[in-house]
Amino acid sequence: MRDSDSPAPFRFCPRCGSGGATGGPSYDGKRWRCPACGFELFRNAATAAGAIIHGDAGIVLLERAIEPGVGKLGLPGGFVDTGERAEDAIVRECLEEIGWAPPVLRFLATFTNVYLYGGVVYDTCDLFFYCRLPKDAPLPALSPRDGESSAVRVMPLAGIRPGDLAFPSAARALEAYTALIRS
Ligand SMILES: [Zn+2]
Repeated sequence: MRDSDSPAPFRFCPRCGSGGATGGPSYDGKRWRCPACGFELFRNAATAAGAIIHGDAGIVLLERAIEPGVGKLGLPGGFVDTGERAEDAIVRECLEEIGWAPPVLRFLATFTNVYLYGGVVYDTCDLFFYCRLPKDAPLPALSPRDGESSAVRVMPLAGIRPGDLAFPSAARALEAYTALIRS
């Protein structure tokens, strides 16, 4: 692993400030290490949560208004805050993004993803939850509530193509969900 493969453009040590023209923290594929003071920063996965909300008309998807994946579709969800349970994060993200959260969200599976934002690569572990609404509890009218999405789309599960989705982890979660409800 060469330093040039580092997923973040760190040129200075965040503890002692050495670096710049003389070279900052080195990167070995798992962590950055400062040669001057020994400071180490591990490259851990960031936790994210996504929701598969399945109503009679199909799956709730958001058309992304921002990069990465602008114009493509994603599931409601986002990063888990520090000190926050993933179960709470997914409810918060649903409320923030579509103004509504399903009454019950069950855990489905995890898949990994790579998220490029601001020139930094974030390796994520995405936890997916699902809710299949009963026929007598239809989806409420939903609209995007934050600047990350331009529209809410409800699409039949079988009609969602992996290439329509911004993130491969969402495609894999929908595959896992399809297998679950067919079993
Ligand atoms: Zn240092």
